[in-house]
Amino acid sequence: MAPKIDTVETATDIPSQASVVVVGGGIVGLTTALNLAEKGVSVTVLEKGRLAGEQSSRNLGWIRKTSRARRDVPMSLLSDKLWAEMQQRTGVDVGYRQNGILFVAKSEAEMAAHEKWLASVQGLDLDSRLVSGQQIAEMVPGGTESWVGGIYTPSDGYAEPMITSSAIANAAIRRGVTIVERCAVRTLERSGDKVTGVQTEKGLITCDHVVLATGLWSRKFLANMGVSFPTLPLVCYAIRSSEMDGPTDIAVGAPNFSFRKRLDGGYTICQRGAVGSPLLLDHALLGMKYLPMFKDGRSMLRISLGREFVEDLRLKRRWSPDDVSPFEKVRTMDPRVREDINVEAMENIQAAWPTFASATVEETWGGTMDITPDSLPVIGGIDGIEGLTLSTGYSGHGFGTSPAAGQLTAELVLEDTPSIDPSPYRFDRF
Ligand SMILES: Cc1cc2nc3c(=O)[nH]c(=O)nc-3n(C[C@H](O)[C@H](O)[C@H](O)COP(=O)(O)OP(=O)(O)OC[C@H]3O[C@@H](n4cnc5c(N)ncnc54)[C@H](O)[C@@H]3O)c2cc1C
Repeated sequence: MAPKIDTVETATDIPSQASVVVVGGGIVGLTTALNLAEKGVSVTVLEKGRLAGEQSSRNLGWIRKTSRARRDVPMSLLSDKLWAEMQQRTGVDVGYRQNGILFVAKSEAEMAAHEKWLASVQGLDLDSRLVSGQQIAEMVPGGTESWVGGIYTPSDGYAEPMITSSAIANAAIRRGVTIVERCAVRTLERSGDKVTGVQTEKGLITCDHVVLATGLWSRKFLANMGVSFPTLPLVCYAIRSSEMDGPTDIAVGAPNFSFRKRLDGGYTICQRGAVGSPLLLDHALLGMKYLPMFKDGRSMLRISLGREFVEDLRLKRRWSPDDVSPFEKVRTMDPRVREDINVEAMENIQAAWPTFASATVEETWGGTMDITPDSLPVIGGIDGIEGLTLSTGYSGHGFGTSPAAGQLTAELVLEDTPSIDPSPYRFDRF
């Protein structure tokens, strides 16, 4: 199941040449393309399935600075500024609302984690602050839980994933970007160390530069080039409720549920304490790199061994430009929904804020996230491959930072002075 995305009139034919080819029509690829086009660069975006069909339409829409690593905060601060300009830039209300994000804690240990994060970002001029259980009761009325406390960031917010990527795509098209859906890139063309084009299922496009914004497929794409890029897939599940009177417009994250108000009057709800982890071969190959992460988050993982393992094994590991690639075999990753996890989300939210008993479930879906070992993306090149920039591995929180990520990616392609320090995102840190 997939959320309904605003449609975009895209091209059917590929050009023979472009200055920059962006591989992947998720929010990162599209934002990169818009930034490049605004600087007068000729850009083509190629998407194997449909625009934003994977993570970029399925996410919860949260835009947060809270709980980000200190070195990742400049990207989210720049993104806040760019989100505020999004309506003017695209001509569409993408639902950006700076209504605040509140994380509530049920135990002293959770509260200590919030305190630790707040101390780690001291001096960065954030408006995050600790709040008491009493303050939470006043901010989000009608609750039954007595929370130990929480952390509140008034300038955090959210936007609508089902609208935003389409709005950016249309703005990019108006700026002259060619976007082609159902066109997988199989391999890169190279002359020595230099990228000279992309081989697609519809033929060759020559270009000076390629941006790889391929989300959870980046690991496979790069492995086919002999480059190892560690990412593991984890599945997050979401619920869209009917229109209802909720307790607040603040987005609220609890240990075992989350909710945020939608532009259509409903709520997007999630079991925040559970992510699906259908086992794949990569879990065995990469598991050791994730031990520190799993040590803290082990209780969240709902590990299963099912058909995903076999389906993934059936996909080719190596292919040539003439072979049908894995990207044509799986046009859109649409993971099986774990309804048991969604049921938990509804039970937990209704127990904490009984007003959600009136919420009717209109739609549910899952989305597969691409998680790197340090939960930061890669934005930048790979030594020895000239003309290739990666912008991928956004680790379950790349919707919020996509405006700055796209801007930074475009700046690196054009060798402009970057607006923020790109060093935390270097590929060679792995
Ligand atoms: C359920 C869920 C909840 C989330 N909640 C949040 C949240 O609240 N806030 C937040 O900030 N982030 C959230 N995220 C994460 C966020 O959605 C992602 O980090 C972000 O969308 C990544 O964008 P992307 O463009 O890199 O990837 P994607 O949206 O996955 O786009 C990559 C695109 O590349 C295409 N592609 C891949 N290979 C090829 C190829 N060879 N040729 C052509 N096309 C190709 C794919 O089809 C895909 O459309 C969530 C994610 C999920 C799944």
